[in-house]
Amino acid sequence: MYTLDTPISRLDRVGTATARKLKILGLDTVRDLLWHLPFRYEDFSQQKTINDLQVGETVNVTGDIEILQNKRSPRRRLNITEALISDETGQLRVVWFNQPFIARNLKVGDKISLAGKVSEDYTGMVMTSPTYEKVYAGQGIHTQGIVPIYHLTSGVTEKQLRFLLKQVIDLAKELEDWLPAEIKKREELLEMSEAIRLIHFPKTQADIDLAKRRLGFDELFLVQLQAQLIRESLEQSSAPTVKFDEDATKQFVQSLPFDLTKAQRQAAWEIIKDLEKDRPMARLLEGDVGSGKTLVALMALFNAVKAGYQGTLMVPTAILANQHYETAKRLLEPFGVSVGLWTGSRKENREVGIENREKAQKKAKNLYSEFSILNSDVTIGTQALIQPTVKFKNLALVVIDEQHRFGVEQRKMLLANSGLSKDMAPHLLSMTATPIPRSLALALYGDLDISIINELPANRKPIKTKVVTEKERKTAYDFIRNQVKEGRQVFVICPLIDPSDVSGAKSVKEEYEKLNKEIFPDISVEMLHGKMKAKEKDEIMRRFQNRVAMILVSTSVIEVGVDVQNATIMVIEGADRFGLAQLHQFRGRVGRGEHQSYCFLFPSEDAGQGIRRLKAMEAYNDGFMLSKIDLKFRGPGEVYGTLQKGFFQLKIASLFDLPLMKMAKAEAEIVVEELKEKQQRLENIYPGLADELGNWERKVHLE
Ligand code: ADP
Ligand code: MG
Repeated sequence: MYTLDTPISRLDRVGTATARKLKILGLDTVRDLLWHLPFRYEDFSQQKTINDLQVGETVNVTGDIEILQNKRSPRRRLNITEALISDETGQLRVVWFNQPFIARNLKVGDKISLAGKVSEDYTGMVMTSPTYEKVYAGQGIHTQGIVPIYHLTSGVTEKQLRFLLKQVIDLAKELEDWLPAEIKKREELLEMSEAIRLIHFPKTQADIDLAKRRLGFDELFLVQLQAQLIRESLEQSSAPTVKFDEDATKQFVQSLPFDLTKAQRQAAWEIIKDLEKDRPMARLLEGDVGSGKTLVALMALFNAVKAGYQGTLMVPTAILANQHYETAKRLLEPFGVSVGLWTGSRKENREVGIENREKAQKKAKNLYSEFSILNSDVTIGTQALIQPTVKFKNLALVVIDEQHRFGVEQRKMLLANSGLSKDMAPHLLSMTATPIPRSLALALYGDLDISIINELPANRKPIKTKVVTEKERKTAYDFIRNQVKEGRQVFVICPLIDPSDVSGAKSVKEEYEKLNKEIFPDISVEMLHGKMKAKEKDEIMRRFQNRVAMILVSTSVIEVGVDVQNATIMVIEGADRFGLAQLHQFRGRVGRGEHQSYCFLFPSEDAGQGIRRLKAMEAYNDGFMLSKIDLKFRGPGEVYGTLQKGFFQLKIASLFDLPLMKMAKAEAEIVVEELKEKQQRLENIYPGLADELGNWERKVHLE
C-alpha cells in the first residue's frame, strides 16, 4: 500500500537511477509527485480512422503494426525506424528518427495508438516521430485525449512521469485540503483532491480550467492573506513620527545638478506626509527605469535622519549596494549625514560607528560573526542587513529597492532589530520598475499604498534603438568603436554564461573572447557574470564606473538598477530570447546622462518571427506598453513568467487574472475580519490554513 509519504523509489518500475533523477526535479515522495504539475497539455482528443486523416492535423489514430524495421540512412548518420500500420479503413506509414529501441519495444501484430501530426512526402501521408503506446483495455495516457506535459530533467521522460502519476493519482484524495469549507462553497471551488486529479488527467479543457481555478485561487489567497495579516499587525503598532524639515530638504534639492521632475516631487511629498504620521507607512513607489526613484528615496531617508533617526536602503545585489552607497555618500554627506555600507562581506562593510571599530580591534579575526550595531545615519546594504546579529539603534525608515518580496520573517527580524521600542515599527517604502497598472498593483499588494512616477527627467534624449542584422554587424561595431573613442562606454548582454551546443545562444565567455581578442583588441573589454565572486564583480563594476573598462560583456545580472551615466550603448545578443519588458530594463541601463544613447538588438540566427516582436522596441519606449505588446506575440505563459520574476512565484495563477485576484482578496478580508471580531489568531480558528501559510512563507523564502 502506498501513502503520500511513500518514497518514489518504492513505486513500480522506479530504480535507484530513476529515483536519483527525479530527485533533481525535487521529487522524493508520492506527495511531491502529485504536486509536480503539468505546465501545458497536448490535445489528442481528436480520434480518426486512417482514411479520414488530413495533412497538417494533430490527431490520435489506432492500428495494427504490419511491418516494422530499422534502417540506416546512408547519407546522414541517422537511424530510421519505419512502420506500416493499418486499421479497417486503410494503411499509414510511420517513421521515427534515432529511436532504434522502438523496434525492440514493439513487434508486428501489436495494436498501437499514435499521436502526432500528419504530413506528406513523396510516398503519401506519413506520421513522423509520433508518440506511441500499446493499446490495452481502457484509455491510453500518452496518445489519447488531453495529455499533460511536464517539466523534465535529463533521463526522465514524459511517459515515465505519466506512468508514475497514473499509479498514485488515487492518493490525491489523501491530500489535506486546508481551504476553509465556507470559502470553497461560496466561490464554488473544487476540492483539492479533485483539482489535483483533473490537472494531471483532464478529460476536457473545462476540467483543466476548473482545476486551475481552484489551485490558482489557493496561491493568490495565500498571498492576500499574508499581506492583510501584516497590514493588520502594522495597524496595531505605531511608528516614529518624522517631521518634515522643509529648509534642509530645500537645500538638499538645490544642491542637485538637476531639477526634480514634477512626478518626483509629488511622490516625495506623498512619502513625507506618510512619515509624519505615527502609523507605519507601507508604500510602493512605482516608476519606469531611469525615472529617478533613488533620489526620492534619498529625500525620505534624509528627512528621517534630520528628525534624529536612522534609515536604511536595501537592494538585491552587492553591485547595486555599492553603487547606491557611492551616490548616497556623494549627495548626503555634505549635509552631515553619515552613510554606511553593509553587504555581509567583511571587506565590503563600511560602517562609521565606533561600536564596530572597538569590537574589530578586540577581535579582529571574526568581526562578521560578532554582534554589530550599525551606527551610520543611513546604511545601504543587501539582505545581509537582516540578521539577528545586525542591530540598528533607532531605525525609522526602511527602503527596499527593486525587490517586491519582503517576507514576514524578514519584517519580524527588522522590527526586532530596529532598536525601536516594542510596539513600534519603522516606515516601509518599496520601489519597483516593474510596469504594472495601478488597478493590478492595488489588487496585488492589498497591503501597500502606491505612488507612481510617470515621467522621465526632461534632459533625457530618447534612446535610439535598432534591430541589427548579421550583415550590419560590422557597421555596428565600427559605430561602437567611434563612440568609445569619444569616451563613451558599452554594455554587451548575452543570454548565457557558458557556451552551449544545445541552444546555440551566445555566451558571455565566448563573446568576451571574441570582442576582446578579435574585434576590439585595442579597447579594454571586461566580463561580468553571476558565477563570479562578489569581490571580483565589485572590482569589475568599479573599473567600469571609473572608465578603466570601456566595454562590459555581461548576463542579465546588470538588468536592474545599475547606473553608469557615461554608458551610452547597450548591445543585446540573442535579443529575441528575452521578453520585451526585460529588454526594456536592459535598455534602461543607458540613456541616463546627457549623451545620446543607443540600443542595438542582435537577433539569434533562428529568430524567425521573433524579429517582428523586437521591432516593437524600435517604436516604443514605455515599459508597460511593451509588456502589453509582448503579451500579444508570446502569449501569457512567457510574459507573466518574466514579469513575475521578483514577485512571489505563482505556479498556476496568472498575475493578470484580475477577477481571481479580487476574489482571493475579498475572501482573505473575510477571514481577517473574522479573526478581528473573535479576537483570535489564525491558528486557533483555521489551524490547517495557518500551517499552510507557514509552509508557503518558508517555501517562498527558499526560492
Ligand atoms: P531608477 O528609477 O531606474 O532607479 P535612478 O534613480 O537610478 O532611476 O535615476 C537614474 C538617473 O537619473 C540617475 O543617474 C539620477 O542621478 C538621474 N536623475 C534622477 N532624477 C533626475 C532628474 N530629475 N533630472 C535629471 N536626472 C535625474
Ligand atoms: Mg533604481
